[in-house]
Amino acid sequence: MVVLITGASRGIGRSIAYSLAPDYDIAVNYRTAEEAATGVVDDIESGGGNAIAVSADVSNSEDVESMVANVVDTFGDLDAVVNNAGIVDPDLATDIDDEQWNRVLETNLSGAFYVARAAIPHLEPDGDVVFLSSIGGTGGTVDASYAASKAGLHGLTRSLAREYGGEGLQVNAVAPGPVETGLNDAILEHLEAIEFRGHGNLDTHLPQYACQPEDVAHTVEYVLENEYLQGEIVNVNGGMQFQ
Ligand code: NDP
Repeated sequence: MVVLITGASRGIGRSIAYSLAPDYDIAVNYRTAEEAATGVVDDIESGGGNAIAVSADVSNSEDVESMVANVVDTFGDLDAVVNNAGIVDPDLATDIDDEQWNRVLETNLSGAFYVARAAIPHLEPDGDVVFLSSIGGTGGTVDASYAASKAGLHGLTRSLAREYGGEGLQVNAVAPGPVETGLNDAILEHLEAIEFRGHGNLDTHLPQYACQPEDVAHTVEYVLENEYLQGEIVNVNGGMQFQ
């Protein structure tokens, strides 16, 4: 089986790549971090797996089309895509300009759409599309562009599940709370700077644990393995928010 994981050079995407490597040939997408992506490929290959690094800016639909064609040419197949690439702009809504707003929406929402659109013709009849959403997609955050992009993914998940589920395609999203990665460091710094204390409900959060990329990777693995999950937003937030 073959999976394309966007933004797999570090953080959650890299953990997903490691977690799926025993069962899948892995296409490790990156935008700028070529050395890191090649390192992920080397790690997978030294563990006996099969992987390639594929560069593409997911917010550029032509880049995405060529990347998907390259993956299908290389492996001869495509069974799943994990739309993980994402960015955050922690400025408050009234402080961000059009360019900042568009950059987040174009990466997190349009980019995920471009990848799904390019991949779906190769995935049918029984492939998987997984989107990386966030607790902010339902609960909101103090990064309006980020939360809006993730809420958009929920609509995209459910619409694609309706449009293509009858043909066997499974489309789901995984929505983590804060996970210890570089992206989360940027959010935390911003929350501290504005002395914000209302991000989710810390009273109900599991006390023993800070979510690691591996926790999210295992959830993605579960979503891919499950043959009956469809159109769901699977929360992994330790109880910060219930649905
Ligand atoms: P990181 O910042 O650690 O990694 C982001 C990855 O996305 C990198 O591999 C980066 O590649 C890639 N990327 C960014 N922009 C583009 C682009 N335009 N085209 C292709 N790749 C791109 O993020 P995380 O691992 O923390 O986050 C991964 C996903 O999980 C995101 O969608 C995020 O919103 C979501 N998430 C994260 C949470 C957290 O607390 N960390 C919580 C909830 C959701 P490169 O290095 O080459 O730039």
